[in-house]
Amino acid sequence: MIKHHPTSSVLRHFVAGELPVSVAVIVASHVELCDECRAAVQLLTEQAAAQAFDDTVMGEALSGLQSDTPIEDDEFFKAFDFDAATVSDITGSDAANMIESITEQSALINSALAQTVNEIEISGTRIKLPRAIKSIALREWQGLGKLSRARLALEDQELRASLLHIDKGGSVPCHTHKGFEITLILRGSFEDEMGSYREGDFMWLDGDHTHQPVTKEGCVCLTVSSDAIHFTQGMSQLLNPIGRFIY
Ligand SMILES: [Zn+2]
Repeated sequence: MIKHHPTSSVLRHFVAGELPVSVAVIVASHVELCDECRAAVQLLTEQAAAQAFDDTVMGEALSGLQSDTPIEDDEFFKAFDFDAATVSDITGSDAANMIESITEQSALINSALAQTVNEIEISGTRIKLPRAIKSIALREWQGLGKLSRARLALEDQELRASLLHIDKGGSVPCHTHKGFEITLILRGSFEDEMGSYREGDFMWLDGDHTHQPVTKEGCVCLTVSSDAIHFTQGMSQLLNPIGRFIY
């Protein structure tokens, strides 16, 4: 039973196509696993379609009186501490940047087609990847103790998407997040100070959260981070390279 979902605001931005691509990918992956959010997305899509129709009709009547709310003013972005500069970076409001990033992405996707994967095998278990990430190439797995990580070949400004595997009995030392960190559990489970999380659970954490995830059975997660994680206890200078490794 999935207990942790994207907020309705995140789902609305997802349906409107307003999320940075890596965030859209992790939301789509959750939606694929979650009946509840799939139904919500379907409803929001129908509402958006009806709204678009109304806007067209009203638009003619009002002839330009309506204007879209700037994305910076939106509660969703406020909630996650985006500053205006970051938002304009991420949303690529500048047309030239947008074209450049689209060309870069298609070049990357073309050069990496051969490496796309539908399934991964970890500790002798085959794990089916969400459809949303099947067309995205996976870079090499790199390991550090019980942690291993494979980046998704997805250029998305400062945002990085990865598959993260924590082996049985592994943990990530107590840390907080300089930016935000979104985690979707694809297999297994983990616990932290705030609760326990299982397959399909979707968590969006930021600098207000400090936690120490521990996994008994091991877990494989899809993660999207906007910055390195920051260790808060003991030997932090020794550990912070791990923070950059996970990011
Ligand atoms: Zn859900």
